[in-house]
Amino acid sequence: MADNRIYNFSAGPSMLPAPVLERAAAEMLNYKGSGMSVMEMSHRSKVYDGIIKETEAALRRVLSIPDNYKVLFLQGGATTQFAAIPMNLMKTGKADYALTGNFANNAYKEAKKFGDIHLAFSSKESGFDRVPTQNELDIRPDADYFYICANNTIYGTEYQYDPETPAGVPLVADMSSNILSKPVDVAKYGVIYAGAQKNMGPAGVTVVIVRDDLLGGYPLDKYPVMLDWKTMADKESMYNTPPTYGIYILGLVLEWVEAQGGVEAMQRLAEKRASMLYDYLDGQAFYQPVAEKASRSHMNVTFRTGSEELDAKFAKESAAAGMSNLKGHRSVGGMRASIYNAMPVEGVEHLIGFMKKFAAENG
Ligand SMILES: *Cc1c(COP(=O)(O)O)cnc(C)c1O
Repeated sequence: MADNRIYNFSAGPSMLPAPVLERAAAEMLNYKGSGMSVMEMSHRSKVYDGIIKETEAALRRVLSIPDNYKVLFLQGGATTQFAAIPMNLMKTGKADYALTGNFANNAYKEAKKFGDIHLAFSSKESGFDRVPTQNELDIRPDADYFYICANNTIYGTEYQYDPETPAGVPLVADMSSNILSKPVDVAKYGVIYAGAQKNMGPAGVTVVIVRDDLLGGYPLDKYPVMLDWKTMADKESMYNTPPTYGIYILGLVLEWVEAQGGVEAMQRLAEKRASMLYDYLDGQAFYQPVAEKASRSHMNVTFRTGSEELDAKFAKESAAAGMSNLKGHRSVGGMRASIYNAMPVEGVEHLIGFMKKFAAENG
Protein backbone atom coordinates (compact mmCIF):
# COMPACT_ATOMS: atom_id res chain seq x y z
CA MET A 1 0.00 0.00 0.00
CA ALA A 2 1.12 3.52 -0.76
CA ASP A 3 3.08 4.66 2.29
CA ASN A 4 2.23 8.33 1.77
CA ARG A 5 -1.39 7.91 2.88
CA ILE A 6 -2.49 9.77 6.01
CA TYR A 7 -4.98 8.92 8.73
CA ASN A 8 -8.14 10.49 7.39
CA PHE A 9 -10.70 11.17 10.13
CA SER A 10 -13.24 12.66 7.69
CA ALA A 11 -16.93 12.24 8.55
CA GLY A 12 -17.66 11.48 4.90
CA PRO A 13 -16.67 10.78 2.23
CA SER A 14 -14.22 8.90 4.37
CA MET A 15 -11.44 6.32 4.38
CA LEU A 16 -11.88 3.13 2.39
CA PRO A 17 -9.91 -0.04 3.15
CA ALA A 18 -6.59 0.07 1.28
CA PRO A 19 -7.07 -3.46 -0.18
CA VAL A 20 -10.33 -2.27 -1.76
CA LEU A 21 -8.59 0.66 -3.43
CA GLU A 22 -5.77 -1.60 -4.58
CA ARG A 23 -8.21 -4.11 -6.10
CA ALA A 24 -10.08 -1.32 -7.87
CA ALA A 25 -6.78 0.00 -9.21
CA ALA A 26 -5.71 -3.43 -10.45
CA GLU A 27 -9.08 -3.96 -12.15
CA MET A 28 -9.38 -0.42 -13.47
CA LEU A 29 -8.51 -0.92 -17.13
CA ASN A 30 -9.70 -4.47 -17.67
CA TYR A 31 -12.24 -5.97 -15.30
CA LYS A 32 -11.77 -9.75 -15.16
CA GLY A 33 -10.92 -10.11 -18.85
CA SER A 34 -13.89 -8.08 -20.08
CA GLY A 35 -11.49 -5.71 -21.82
CA MET A 36 -13.02 -2.67 -20.16
CA SER A 37 -13.35 -0.81 -16.90
CA VAL A 38 -16.47 -1.31 -14.77
CA MET A 39 -17.08 2.41 -15.41
CA GLU A 40 -17.37 1.75 -19.12
CA MET A 41 -19.76 -1.19 -18.98
CA SER A 42 -23.40 -1.23 -19.95
CA HIS A 43 -25.43 -1.65 -16.80
CA ARG A 44 -27.47 -4.22 -18.76
CA SER A 45 -24.46 -6.34 -19.74
CA LYS A 46 -24.04 -9.85 -18.41
CA VAL A 47 -20.80 -9.01 -16.65
CA TYR A 48 -22.35 -6.01 -14.86
CA ASP A 49 -25.39 -8.05 -13.95
CA GLY A 50 -22.99 -10.39 -12.14
CA ILE A 51 -21.51 -7.45 -10.20
CA ILE A 52 -24.81 -5.98 -8.99
CA LYS A 53 -26.28 -9.39 -8.14
CA GLU A 54 -23.21 -10.40 -6.14
CA THR A 55 -23.16 -7.03 -4.35
CA GLU A 56 -26.77 -7.50 -3.30
CA ALA A 57 -26.12 -11.11 -2.26
CA ALA A 58 -23.09 -10.01 -0.20
CA LEU A 59 -25.09 -7.28 1.55
CA ARG A 60 -27.81 -9.81 2.33
CA ARG A 61 -25.21 -12.19 3.81
CA VAL A 62 -23.35 -9.52 5.79
CA LEU A 63 -26.47 -7.96 7.34
CA SER A 64 -28.53 -11.20 7.42
CA ILE A 65 -31.31 -9.44 5.52
CA PRO A 66 -34.49 -11.56 5.56
CA ASP A 67 -36.01 -12.63 2.21
CA ASN A 68 -39.07 -10.44 2.64
CA TYR A 69 -36.93 -7.30 2.34
CA LYS A 70 -35.98 -5.62 -0.95
CA VAL A 71 -32.54 -4.11 -1.41
CA LEU A 72 -32.39 -1.02 -3.64
CA PHE A 73 -29.31 0.76 -5.01
CA LEU A 74 -30.32 4.36 -5.65
CA GLN A 75 -28.81 7.76 -6.35
CA GLY A 76 -29.34 11.17 -4.79
CA GLY A 77 -27.72 10.54 -1.41
CA ALA A 78 -29.44 9.98 1.90
CA THR A 79 -30.93 13.46 1.55
CA THR A 80 -33.13 12.44 -1.38
CA GLN A 81 -34.59 9.71 0.83
CA PHE A 82 -35.71 12.37 3.34
CA ALA A 83 -38.50 13.08 0.80
CA ALA A 84 -38.84 9.55 -0.55
CA ILE A 85 -39.69 8.20 2.93
CA PRO A 86 -42.91 10.19 3.45
CA MET A 87 -43.76 9.75 -0.23
CA ASN A 88 -43.60 5.98 0.02
CA LEU A 89 -44.75 5.39 3.58
CA MET A 90 -47.21 8.11 4.52
CA LYS A 91 -50.42 6.27 3.77
CA THR A 92 -52.75 8.12 6.16
CA GLY A 93 -50.76 11.36 6.41
CA LYS A 94 -49.21 11.00 9.88
CA ALA A 95 -45.64 10.23 10.88
CA ASP A 96 -43.51 10.61 14.02
CA TYR A 97 -39.87 11.66 14.20
CA ALA A 98 -37.14 11.73 16.83
CA LEU A 99 -35.17 14.95 16.48
CA THR A 100 -31.59 14.17 17.44
CA GLY A 101 -29.43 16.29 15.14
CA ASN A 102 -28.92 18.04 11.85
CA PHE A 103 -29.78 15.15 9.53
CA ALA A 104 -32.82 14.14 11.58
CA ASN A 105 -33.91 17.76 11.38
CA ASN A 106 -33.47 17.86 7.60
CA ALA A 107 -35.53 14.68 7.31
CA TYR A 108 -38.20 16.16 9.61
CA LYS A 109 -38.38 19.39 7.60
CA GLU A 110 -38.80 17.46 4.37
CA ALA A 111 -41.51 15.21 5.84
CA LYS A 112 -43.49 18.21 7.05
CA LYS A 113 -44.17 19.05 3.38
CA PHE A 114 -46.15 15.81 3.13
CA GLY A 115 -48.32 15.62 6.21
CA ASP A 116 -48.83 15.84 9.95
CA ILE A 117 -45.51 15.23 11.68
CA HIS A 118 -45.26 14.79 15.43
CA LEU A 119 -41.97 14.95 17.30
CA ALA A 120 -41.80 11.84 19.45
CA PHE A 121 -38.61 13.22 21.06
CA SER A 122 -36.22 16.14 20.69
CA SER A 123 -32.83 16.86 22.23
CA LYS A 124 -32.57 20.22 20.48
CA GLU A 125 -32.72 22.16 23.78
CA SER A 126 -29.57 20.49 25.08
CA GLY A 127 -27.64 20.91 21.82
CA PHE A 128 -28.40 17.40 20.50
CA ASP A 129 -26.09 15.86 23.08
CA ARG A 130 -28.06 12.62 23.32
CA VAL A 131 -30.56 10.21 21.81
CA PRO A 132 -33.76 9.20 23.63
CA THR A 133 -34.22 6.22 25.91
CA GLN A 134 -37.11 3.93 25.03
CA ASN A 135 -39.21 5.41 27.87
CA GLU A 136 -38.88 8.94 26.51
CA LEU A 137 -40.41 8.07 23.13
CA ASP A 138 -43.90 9.40 22.61
CA ILE A 139 -44.99 7.64 19.40
CA ARG A 140 -48.58 7.91 18.17
CA PRO A 141 -50.11 4.45 17.76
CA ASP A 142 -51.68 5.49 14.43
CA ALA A 143 -48.51 6.96 12.89
CA ASP A 144 -47.64 5.58 9.44
CA TYR A 145 -44.05 5.16 10.61
CA PHE A 146 -41.57 6.26 13.27
CA TYR A 147 -38.29 7.77 12.09
CA ILE A 148 -34.85 7.83 13.73
CA CYS A 149 -31.34 8.82 12.71
CA ALA A 150 -29.42 5.83 14.11
CA ASN A 151 -26.08 7.62 14.34
CA ASN A 152 -25.86 11.40 14.51
CA THR A 153 -22.69 12.02 12.54
CA ILE A 154 -22.29 15.69 13.46
CA TYR A 155 -23.00 15.45 17.21
CA GLY A 156 -21.44 12.04 17.86
CA THR A 157 -24.46 10.27 19.34
CA GLU A 158 -25.76 6.81 18.48
CA TYR A 159 -28.67 4.60 19.49
CA GLN A 160 -27.30 1.58 21.35
CA TYR A 161 -30.67 -0.21 21.10
CA ASP A 162 -33.43 -0.76 18.55
CA PRO A 163 -36.38 1.44 19.55
CA GLU A 164 -39.71 -0.33 19.98
CA THR A 165 -42.76 1.12 18.28
CA PRO A 166 -46.50 0.61 18.89
CA ALA A 167 -47.90 -2.42 17.04
CA GLY A 168 -48.08 -1.85 13.30
CA VAL A 169 -45.88 1.28 13.25
CA PRO A 170 -42.80 0.51 11.14
CA LEU A 171 -39.45 1.80 12.35
CA VAL A 172 -37.45 3.73 9.72
CA ALA A 173 -33.76 4.38 10.31
CA ASP A 174 -31.10 6.48 8.64
CA MET A 175 -27.97 4.36 9.14
CA SER A 176 -25.76 6.38 6.79
CA SER A 177 -22.95 6.67 9.30
CA ASN A 178 -23.09 3.37 11.20
CA ILE A 179 -24.28 0.69 8.78
CA LEU A 180 -21.86 -2.26 8.57
CA SER A 181 -20.31 -1.27 11.93
CA LYS A 182 -22.27 -3.87 13.93
CA PRO A 183 -24.91 -6.56 13.45
CA VAL A 184 -28.45 -5.23 13.07
CA ASP A 185 -31.69 -7.13 13.52
CA VAL A 186 -33.20 -6.01 10.21
CA ALA A 187 -36.55 -7.61 11.07
CA LYS A 188 -37.09 -4.94 13.74
CA TYR A 189 -37.08 -2.26 11.05
CA GLY A 190 -39.50 -1.42 8.25
CA VAL A 191 -36.86 0.54 6.35
CA ILE A 192 -33.11 0.94 6.78
CA TYR A 193 -31.29 3.25 4.44
CA ALA A 194 -27.82 4.70 4.10
CA GLY A 195 -25.75 6.86 1.82
CA ALA A 196 -22.62 4.85 1.03
CA GLN A 197 -19.89 7.41 1.57
CA LYS A 198 -19.38 6.96 5.34
CA ASN A 199 -18.92 3.24 5.80
CA MET A 200 -19.80 1.44 2.56
CA GLY A 201 -18.10 2.98 -0.44
CA PRO A 202 -17.89 6.15 -2.49
CA ALA A 203 -20.53 8.88 -2.66
CA GLY A 204 -23.19 8.27 -5.26
CA VAL A 205 -24.87 5.08 -4.05
CA THR A 206 -27.66 5.01 -1.51
CA VAL A 207 -28.84 1.67 -0.19
CA VAL A 208 -32.49 1.25 0.82
CA ILE A 209 -33.57 -1.96 2.59
CA VAL A 210 -37.37 -2.08 2.74
CA ARG A 211 -39.84 -4.70 3.96
CA ASP A 212 -41.85 -5.71 0.92
CA ASP A 213 -45.33 -5.28 2.44
CA LEU A 214 -44.57 -1.55 2.83
CA LEU A 215 -44.26 -1.09 -0.94
CA GLY A 216 -47.18 0.31 -2.92
CA GLY A 217 -50.69 1.22 -1.81
CA TYR A 218 -50.32 5.00 -1.96
CA PRO A 219 -50.98 7.69 -4.56
CA LEU A 220 -47.48 7.82 -6.01
CA ASP A 221 -48.53 8.71 -9.54
CA LYS A 222 -48.17 12.42 -8.83
CA TYR A 223 -44.60 12.04 -7.54
CA PRO A 224 -41.28 11.62 -9.40
CA VAL A 225 -40.84 8.00 -10.44
CA MET A 226 -37.19 8.11 -9.33
CA LEU A 227 -38.37 8.33 -5.73
CA ASP A 228 -40.83 5.46 -6.02
CA TRP A 229 -39.37 2.45 -4.20
CA LYS A 230 -41.89 0.02 -5.68
CA THR A 231 -40.88 0.84 -9.25
CA MET A 232 -37.22 0.63 -8.27
CA ALA A 233 -37.83 -2.73 -6.57
CA ASP A 234 -39.84 -4.12 -9.51
CA LYS A 235 -37.02 -3.06 -11.88
CA GLU A 236 -34.27 -4.39 -9.55
CA SER A 237 -32.70 -0.89 -9.30
CA MET A 238 -32.46 -0.77 -13.11
CA TYR A 239 -35.36 1.54 -13.99
CA ASN A 240 -32.61 3.85 -15.21
CA THR A 241 -28.82 3.65 -15.02
CA PRO A 242 -27.83 2.82 -11.44
CA PRO A 243 -24.59 4.20 -9.93
CA THR A 244 -22.64 1.36 -11.50
CA TYR A 245 -19.10 2.06 -10.30
CA GLY A 246 -20.16 2.86 -6.74
CA ILE A 247 -22.09 -0.41 -6.53
CA TYR A 248 -18.97 -2.27 -7.69
CA ILE A 249 -16.85 -0.60 -4.97
CA LEU A 250 -19.54 -1.41 -2.40
CA GLY A 251 -19.21 -5.02 -3.52
CA LEU A 252 -15.46 -4.90 -2.88
CA VAL A 253 -16.01 -3.31 0.55
CA LEU A 254 -18.46 -6.09 1.45
CA GLU A 255 -15.94 -8.72 0.32
CA TRP A 256 -13.39 -7.03 2.62
CA VAL A 257 -15.85 -6.95 5.54
CA GLU A 258 -16.54 -10.67 5.09
CA ALA A 259 -12.83 -11.45 4.93
CA GLN A 260 -12.29 -9.59 8.23
CA GLY A 261 -14.96 -11.70 9.94
CA GLY A 262 -18.16 -9.84 9.06
CA VAL A 263 -20.05 -7.22 11.05
CA GLU A 264 -19.25 -8.99 14.33
CA ALA A 265 -15.56 -8.31 13.68
CA MET A 266 -16.39 -4.74 12.60
CA GLN A 267 -18.23 -4.27 15.91
CA ARG A 268 -15.31 -5.56 17.98
CA LEU A 269 -12.95 -3.18 16.21
CA ALA A 270 -15.37 -0.25 16.45
CA GLU A 271 -15.76 -0.81 20.19
CA LYS A 272 -12.02 -1.03 20.59
CA ARG A 273 -11.32 2.20 18.68
CA ALA A 274 -14.14 4.11 20.40
CA SER A 275 -13.29 2.93 23.91
CA MET A 276 -9.62 3.87 23.44
CA LEU A 277 -10.70 7.43 22.69
CA TYR A 278 -13.46 7.71 25.30
CA ASP A 279 -11.30 6.14 28.02
CA TYR A 280 -8.62 8.70 27.29
CA LEU A 281 -11.16 11.56 27.26
CA ASP A 282 -12.70 10.44 30.56
CA GLY A 283 -9.32 10.27 32.29
CA GLN A 284 -8.17 13.84 31.68
CA ALA A 285 -9.48 17.40 32.00
CA PHE A 286 -8.04 19.29 29.04
CA TYR A 287 -10.65 18.14 26.50
CA GLN A 288 -14.39 17.88 27.14
CA PRO A 289 -16.40 15.16 25.40
CA VAL A 290 -19.56 16.56 23.76
CA ALA A 291 -22.05 13.66 23.78
CA GLU A 292 -23.71 12.27 26.90
CA LYS A 293 -22.11 9.00 27.99
CA ALA A 294 -25.06 6.69 27.33
CA SER A 295 -25.51 8.12 23.82
CA ARG A 296 -21.89 8.04 22.68
CA SER A 297 -21.27 7.08 19.07
CA HIS A 298 -18.76 4.39 18.14
CA MET A 299 -18.26 6.08 14.77
CA ASN A 300 -17.93 9.81 15.43
CA VAL A 301 -16.21 10.98 18.60
CA THR A 302 -16.78 14.67 19.41
CA PHE A 303 -14.80 16.74 21.92
CA ARG A 304 -13.63 20.30 22.46
CA THR A 305 -11.03 22.22 24.44
CA GLY A 306 -13.41 25.01 25.45
CA SER A 307 -11.35 27.58 23.54
CA GLU A 308 -11.99 28.30 19.87
CA GLU A 309 -8.36 29.33 19.36
CA LEU A 310 -7.08 26.06 20.80
CA ASP A 311 -9.59 24.08 18.72
CA ALA A 312 -8.31 25.81 15.57
CA LYS A 313 -4.72 25.19 16.65
CA PHE A 314 -5.55 21.52 17.21
CA ALA A 315 -6.96 21.19 13.69
CA LYS A 316 -3.90 22.80 12.18
CA GLU A 317 -1.26 20.92 14.17
CA SER A 318 -2.98 17.54 13.83
CA ALA A 319 -2.94 18.00 10.05
CA ALA A 320 0.80 18.66 10.22
CA ALA A 321 1.11 15.43 12.25
CA GLY A 322 -0.40 13.31 9.46
CA MET A 323 -4.10 13.35 10.39
CA SER A 324 -6.80 15.08 8.39
CA ASN A 325 -10.34 16.33 8.95
CA LEU A 326 -10.35 16.46 12.76
CA LYS A 327 -12.11 19.81 12.83
CA GLY A 328 -15.67 19.50 14.13
CA HIS A 329 -18.71 20.36 12.03
CA ARG A 330 -19.29 24.12 11.83
CA SER A 331 -22.56 23.82 13.78
CA VAL A 332 -20.89 22.14 16.81
CA GLY A 333 -17.32 23.44 16.71
CA GLY A 334 -14.53 21.65 18.54
CA MET A 335 -13.14 18.43 17.13
CA ARG A 336 -14.61 15.28 15.67
CA ALA A 337 -12.76 12.05 14.98
CA SER A 338 -14.70 9.86 12.58
CA ILE A 339 -13.49 6.31 13.07
CA TYR A 340 -15.36 4.15 10.58
CA ASN A 341 -14.59 0.54 9.64
CA ALA A 342 -11.57 1.40 7.50
CA MET A 343 -9.75 3.35 10.25
CA PRO A 344 -6.94 1.18 11.61
CA VAL A 345 -6.46 0.97 15.40
CA GLU A 346 -3.00 2.49 14.81
CA GLY A 347 -4.73 5.63 13.50
CA VAL A 348 -6.51 6.02 16.83
CA GLU A 349 -3.27 5.35 18.75
CA HIS A 350 -1.59 8.02 16.67
CA LEU A 351 -4.43 10.46 17.42
CA ILE A 352 -4.33 9.81 21.18
CA GLY A 353 -0.56 10.29 21.18
CA PHE A 354 -1.06 13.63 19.48
CA MET A 355 -3.88 14.63 21.87
CA LYS A 356 -1.65 13.95 24.89
CA LYS A 357 1.18 15.98 23.46
CA PHE A 358 -1.14 18.86 22.51
CA ALA A 359 -2.71 18.88 25.98
CA ALA A 360 0.71 18.93 27.65
CA GLU A 361 1.88 21.82 25.48
CA ASN A 362 -1.29 23.91 25.79
CA GLY A 363 -2.78 22.98 29.17
C1 LIG B 1 -23.94 12.20 5.67
C2 LIG B 1 -25.27 11.91 6.20
C3 LIG B 1 -26.44 12.24 5.51
C4 LIG B 1 -26.43 13.00 4.21
O1 LIG B 1 -26.02 12.18 3.19
P1 LIG B 1 -25.97 12.68 1.68
O2 LIG B 1 -25.57 11.45 0.97
O3 LIG B 1 -24.96 13.78 1.63
O4 LIG B 1 -27.32 13.17 1.30
C5 LIG B 1 -27.65 11.88 6.05
N1 LIG B 1 -27.73 11.23 7.23
C6 LIG B 1 -26.62 10.91 7.93
C7 LIG B 1 -26.77 10.18 9.23
C8 LIG B 1 -25.36 11.23 7.45
O5 LIG B 1 -24.27 10.91 8.15
